[in-house]
Amino acid sequence: MIQLNDIFKYYDNKFQRSYVLKDFCLNINEGEFVSIMGPSGAGKSTLLNIIGMLDVADDGEYFFMDQPAHKLSDKKKVEFHRNYVGFIFQAFHLIDEMTVAENIETPLIYKGVKSKERKAMVADLLDRFNMVAKKDLFPAQLSGGQQQLVGIARAIISKPKLLLADEPTGNLHSDQGKEIMKLLKKLNEEEGITIIQVTHNEEFAQYGKRIIRIEDGMKKSDLPVATLLEQV
Ligand code: ADP
Ligand code: ADP
Repeated sequence: MIQLNDIFKYYDNKFQRSYVLKDFCLNINEGEFVSIMGPSGAGKSTLLNIIGMLDVADDGEYFFMDQPAHKLSDKKKVEFHRNYVGFIFQAFHLIDEMTVAENIETPLIYKGVKSKERKAMVADLLDRFNMVAKKDLFPAQLSGGQQQLVGIARAIISKPKLLLADEPTGNLHSDQGKEIMKLLKKLNEEEGITIIQVTHNEEFAQYGKRIIRIEDGMKKSDLPVATLLEQV
């Protein structure tokens, strides 16, 4: 599903060029649940943004579902992003002035889904996420865990093949974080959504099936969680 070949990303300032990703290679198959770990500034968010086509590499090739993303027009990239990729963030990024239901509905409006169908899809997801009673509340009236639930609902309402999560539990208490991780695991196992999460939490990383460690823009290790657990 995802194939990165010799990816480079750098930023130039007055005096020097600094590399965020160096000669980075990665393959991820459909249906995987991958955790990415590494120190602050290692390039994790940049990697996730390139995979989600929110950012472009300076060099290298990126194939997404066998399509050469590095050659696609901006318009095509937006289309790909809209149809196949869902994003969730550490700080939720909900729209404060919109209710829970309206937040979840937003991607469907961009996608051009008709109003009646949108309402039905949102109602269905609210029901599945046990949030029917909260549908008319605003984000500020919810706990962090509930806000992230809305973030996930919004990310999966358009049935993406790939869900990218940039520290989804970074702003949550550990019990709320655990609930979110259980939900991601369920979405992966029961609906086959491919998930890539960035996390600083060793325990939460193990909800994935594979852990990739990054330092200074380079891959340090890439191991199945089962192997890691055997080593303990
Ligand atoms: P960003 O991806 O927005 O650049 P960082 O990855 O630098 O942000 O950090 C995101 C959050 O994770 C911050 O709230 C920071 O306090 C926290 N964090 C950063 N490094 C660590 C770490 N080694 N262990 C635990 N938390 C960390
Ligand atoms: P991580 O998510 O692992 O914390 P990031 O991918 O956010 O790392 O950032 C990697 C490096 O790229 C950091 O050193 C950061 O300062 C740098 N960086 C990110 N965005 C920019 C930018 N727009 N301009 C210059 N440097 C940037």
